Amino acid sequence: MISLSTLSSLVLIGAVRAEYKLEQVAVFWAGGHTRIGMDFEDSPEERSLRAEARSWLEANAKPLDVESLSDLRTHRAHTEEQDLALLDEARVWQRHKAEAGWAAPHWPIEHGGRGLSPLLAGVFAAEEQKFDVSGNMFSVGVGMAGPTIIEWGTETQQDQFLAPILTAEHIWCQLFSEPGAGSDLAGLATKAVLDGDEWVVNGQKVWTSAAHYSDYGVLLARTDADVPKHRGITCILIEMHSPGIEIRPLRQIDGAIHFNEVFLDDVRIPVANTLGPVGAGWGVAMTMLAHERASIGGGGMYSFDQVLTLARTVSDTSDPLVRQRLVDLYTRFEMLRFLGYRVRTAAERGELPGPESSVLKLVVSALYEVGGDLLLALEGAAGMLNGADAPFGGKFQDLFMGQWAPRIGGGTDQIQRNIIGERVLGLPGEIRSDKTVPFRELPQA
Ligand SMILES: Cc1cc2nc3c(=O)[nH]c(=O)nc-3n(C[C@H](O)[C@H](O)[C@H](O)COP(=O)(O)OP(=O)(O)OC[C@H]3O[C@@H](n4cnc5c(N)ncnc54)[C@H](O)[C@@H]3O)c2cc1C
Repeated sequence: MISLSTLSSLVLIGAVRAEYKLEQVAVFWAGGHTRIGMDFEDSPEERSLRAEARSWLEANAKPLDVESLSDLRTHRAHTEEQDLALLDEARVWQRHKAEAGWAAPHWPIEHGGRGLSPLLAGVFAAEEQKFDVSGNMFSVGVGMAGPTIIEWGTETQQDQFLAPILTAEHIWCQLFSEPGAGSDLAGLATKAVLDGDEWVVNGQKVWTSAAHYSDYGVLLARTDADVPKHRGITCILIEMHSPGIEIRPLRQIDGAIHFNEVFLDDVRIPVANTLGPVGAGWGVAMTMLAHERASIGGGGMYSFDQVLTLARTVSDTSDPLVRQRLVDLYTRFEMLRFLGYRVRTAAERGELPGPESSVLKLVVSALYEVGGDLLLALEGAAGMLNGADAPFGGKFQDLFMGQWAPRIGGGTDQIQRNIIGERVLGLPGEIRSDKTVPFRELPQA
């Protein structure tokens, strides 16, 4: 009897040799292979929610042609004006969703969400992607800070901070990484010292996405240097317009400003803004990072259909090498879809995203690496152009350059491999002699 993997290989080889159309391979993967052992059809609950989401979206936005290249939007700004225009557009859409109760379907009902499970919330997100709406510029607030405040915040903090996140009245950023603390986040050196009922914060953060237009930030600061590094960190909610905060935007190679350096000089923050217990900031950070990883891969930069349309428009899809690269990319899109189900199913069972979210994140990284290279390869010599000179106004050059964001943000590929090596494969852990030593005695970067 022929095994499933042999059959898959035969079909893929057939596709590469142009014996089957790519659509036939798609039918094999989506219809045949994937139903073995698991039912991916909508449950009655999912079907009804999908219909409700679709009818609201149809009444409020223009459907996208998922195969059309002119409908592909990169949501990337090259100038400050474009950045602000995208932000305005995103605010209007977020407010509109908030009025209809779609702003954060995964939040509990009492906080303005719909109390949907991650799988059901994913149904709305998947439908939303099929419409011409703004990019997700509020993922830190809605996807990360909000759920962390819901889990760790006091009632007063929840009353104060959650509602304005839903309506995009307040934009949030994540003040974690520092020049000497990225992968080794627990090595952070920004200090908060108690003075009466205020924290006084000094230090520097870097790579802070959206800090230049944020109203609030989730800050990690060292509040005790006499205990090992993971234990002396406290999480504080900080008003970004507070005196003593200087934000310096970092301009990227494509002209966009996404990140910032944030300097904190004697910034005073009320103790009431401490999120979680003093010294328990590492646990709060883990909650926020788990939400960050779970959200990566939820939305795509582009679809396989758009790559296929590009290939058909500017390249030769009967060329076996082109077909081989397309099939490779198609397979990765499918892997991502099924890993997404797995992560959301784990969350559905109340499990925090574990090593499977590291696998998912690696698949996302590899997909956009392979996909970004393919996009420009398909354009041939024109792939070397950029901006208005490039085909399709340089959209694919933008997407090519976007591939490094998921490979670094939310934990680099190498760190995800460490996690998989240690927690999935049971390989010996890295030697971490600094885990038991007081932070004060560690060599500082
Ligand atoms: C798109 C994007 C958005 C971001 N947004 C934010 C944000 O809003 N807020 C925020 O706080 N941060 C943000 N970051 C920063 C991000 O979290 C860090 O860049 C990331 O954690 C890596 O840290 P680093 O840049 O200091 O690199 P380093 O930690 O210095 O790593 C340098 C290299 O060494 C490798 N390396 C390090 N340690 C190990 C190890 N133990 N084993 C194997 N290899 C290792 C890394 O993989 C990497 O290749 C963002 C980054 C990106 C790309």
